[in-house]
Amino acid sequence: MSSLPDFAPMPDADGYFGPYGGQLVPPHLKQAMDDITAAYGRITQRQDFQDELAQLHADYVGRPSPIFHARRLSDQLGGAQIHLKREDLNHTGAHKINHCLGEALLARFMGKKKVIAETGAGQHGVALATACALVGIPCEIHMGQVDIEKEHPNVTKMRILGCTLVPVTRGAATLKEAVDSAFEEYLTNPGDYFYAIGSVVGPHPFPMMVRDFQSIVGREARQQFLDRHGRLPEMVVACVGGGSNAMGIFTAFLPDADVRLVGVEPSGEGVDKPGRHAATLSVGKPGEIHGMKCYVLENPDGTPAAVHSIASGLDYPGVGPQHSYLKDLGRVDYQSVTDRECLDAFMTLSRVEGIIPALESAHAVAWAMREAPGLPADRHILVNLSGRGDKDADYVAQVLGL
Ligand SMILES: *Cc1c(COP(=O)(O)O)cnc(C)c1O
Repeated sequence: MSSLPDFAPMPDADGYFGPYGGQLVPPHLKQAMDDITAAYGRITQRQDFQDELAQLHADYVGRPSPIFHARRLSDQLGGAQIHLKREDLNHTGAHKINHCLGEALLARFMGKKKVIAETGAGQHGVALATACALVGIPCEIHMGQVDIEKEHPNVTKMRILGCTLVPVTRGAATLKEAVDSAFEEYLTNPGDYFYAIGSVVGPHPFPMMVRDFQSIVGREARQQFLDRHGRLPEMVVACVGGGSNAMGIFTAFLPDADVRLVGVEPSGEGVDKPGRHAATLSVGKPGEIHGMKCYVLENPDGTPAAVHSIASGLDYPGVGPQHSYLKDLGRVDYQSVTDRECLDAFMTLSRVEGIIPALESAHAVAWAMREAPGLPADRHILVNLSGRGDKDADYVAQVLGL
């Protein structure tokens, strides 16, 4: 592990993390992406941009988020100490505000007239509509009609926040169609519009940019842990959908070869059941999706496979290109937990610590709960608690008959 590459400059100038990433887009779009890359490099160096972002982190998001030592949970498990990086305490209740704020601010500094995005369950849509309301830039969110009917609270929030919600009725009227619709709108005027991607995925520079905006999580956590304990945790754990909260906490720890980094994917109803999991890195293979090379879950004919997770933020058949490379390098260990284990962790954390986690985040908690009992009590596991579970409470109560 001592001969690890220097991770900081990744990706290369073409947006590659080893063999993954890149810009697999048509030529006219490549120009638009290159313009964003150049503007990103220029603007994020500016003192006024950095000052405004730092101020908003402190006064608006509520950063730094604390690290909480889950003593009762650790004692009950009888092993390693579990600590939670409380991204659930951010304004809007999850880590997504970190990159949405960065993207909205960048769009304003670039003089863009509108920010466009798609949303599935509505989490990205709400975080982006929030950031755009704050920054003062029009926001247009495309959402499948089927999802609009399912995700009522998020739809209402987006309307209140003043974004333009575009219902997409074509095809299956879910996330895929919303992506197509949002992209078509973006392509009508890439010079004036900004497409805000919701994770460390898509063509360069998005995997880099979203990672950089999220990396505040790990920079804070590493320093907070050193200040409190005088040492680093043995393990840092995060759930992986597209991979933004995981890259957010991992990045600062990449050079710390002694810190084991664990990404937790959803194995849903079991990795042996095609279409009933979303364990892309665990059982997928290198391929292409959404303008990038990365691990992909595919059907035998090469189309993206159907995916499932009890946590709607994790059911994506691709994954960030940097995660794909970190897996091949062996620097991050990718594991998976089932819907069942996730529900158990959701209930346990709620009842033992009084913290209701997002179902996504409960995957990382579940892995820590599986690992901790086999370790001595002087070992430390740091879990990125990416979001709060208010959005999932009704659903879990219904599933468990509470
Ligand atoms: C969206 C979401 C995720 C999954 O996205 P990543 O890009 O993998 O981080 C995880 N946790 C919460 C709370 C989310 O809202």
